[in-house]
Amino acid sequence: MQAFFADDQLLHDPQQFMRLGRLCKPTDLPARAHALQAALAAHGIAVATPPDYGRAPLETVHSANYLDFLEGAYARWMAVKQPGLEPGIEVLPNLSPYGGAGQAQRGPCPSPSVVAQAGYYLRDLSCPIGPHTWHSVLRSAHSAVAAADAVCQTGDAAYALCRPSGHHACRDSASGFCYVNNSACAAHRLLQHYGRVAVLDVDAHHGDGTQHIFYDSADVLTVSMHADPAGYYPFYSGYAHERGSGAGVGCNLNLPLAHGAGSEPFLLALDAGLAALRDFAPRALVLPLGFDTYKDDPVSVLKVEIDAYRQVGERAGALGLPTVIVQEGGYKVDAMGMALDAFLRGFQAGRS
Ligand SMILES: [Zn+2]
Repeated sequence: MQAFFADDQLLHDPQQFMRLGRLCKPTDLPARAHALQAALAAHGIAVATPPDYGRAPLETVHSANYLDFLEGAYARWMAVKQPGLEPGIEVLPNLSPYGGAGQAQRGPCPSPSVVAQAGYYLRDLSCPIGPHTWHSVLRSAHSAVAAADAVCQTGDAAYALCRPSGHHACRDSASGFCYVNNSACAAHRLLQHYGRVAVLDVDAHHGDGTQHIFYDSADVLTVSMHADPAGYYPFYSGYAHERGSGAGVGCNLNLPLAHGAGSEPFLLALDAGLAALRDFAPRALVLPLGFDTYKDDPVSVLKVEIDAYRQVGERAGALGLPTVIVQEGGYKVDAMGMALDAFLRGFQAGRS
């Protein structure tokens, strides 16, 4: 299995996010990537640096005006002149615009102000933009695209060590530590080659951005299993009744799990997702892989054990599909390596 990661993905170092009315230190620490790199090395998987594809593969799923904002926001923010008030250390919105956010299609922000655009394009307070955020986001997406290209060449599997994560990012908005939807970029790449693709998201949070991006598509099945969003991020979507729209009706499946659910219900949901996949008969798979379902993860409301990741790997590997594995969440740094190790052991066993 090939793996992809660019050192520049470590440069993004967010300093603050809002939680329960408090500005806290974010949990998306660069150390997460080191733990995952160590697990890959233990499996003898060499990690390659992705080519610099520029913005083109991001523009397949995101609007140009949104990417313009991400690319230029920090410099514009630092240049804001307001009498008696210096800009903060990162771009963070103080506006929550009504209507439109998260919709598949909306126009550019009607205001040229970077303050207005921060509210328009950053859907919550967990996506600060610092001096290196754009570059890390761009390279994280490149890792996903390189993994997809490798899979198109080999017909086998590849792993993208994406950081920052991506599955909450919509066509023109960031949220939940996610700026660019790496999994959607990979799915789009596979779609060009294979024509029919499934996304099976096993992160603890609903993959709302991926759902939004492909909601009307009949060629991409999106399946997400996650903690019940009624009391958990992202709250506004991830419910079982959301089945797609237009040509995509029936091509979206959400499998919410009761809070406190352990490995057994988690794997039962996985089997329901795999059954939907078999019905859809995709020719390739994207697997957004999160470890924040782990029982000791600092943001987890589930009770999943490490061995469950081995079984996720085994069952996904046994599908025999060309597969791009895209890293999403997981915030217990000293457990992430074990979780990825278990997943990879299972995946390799499922393949053989
Ligand atoms: Zn998550």
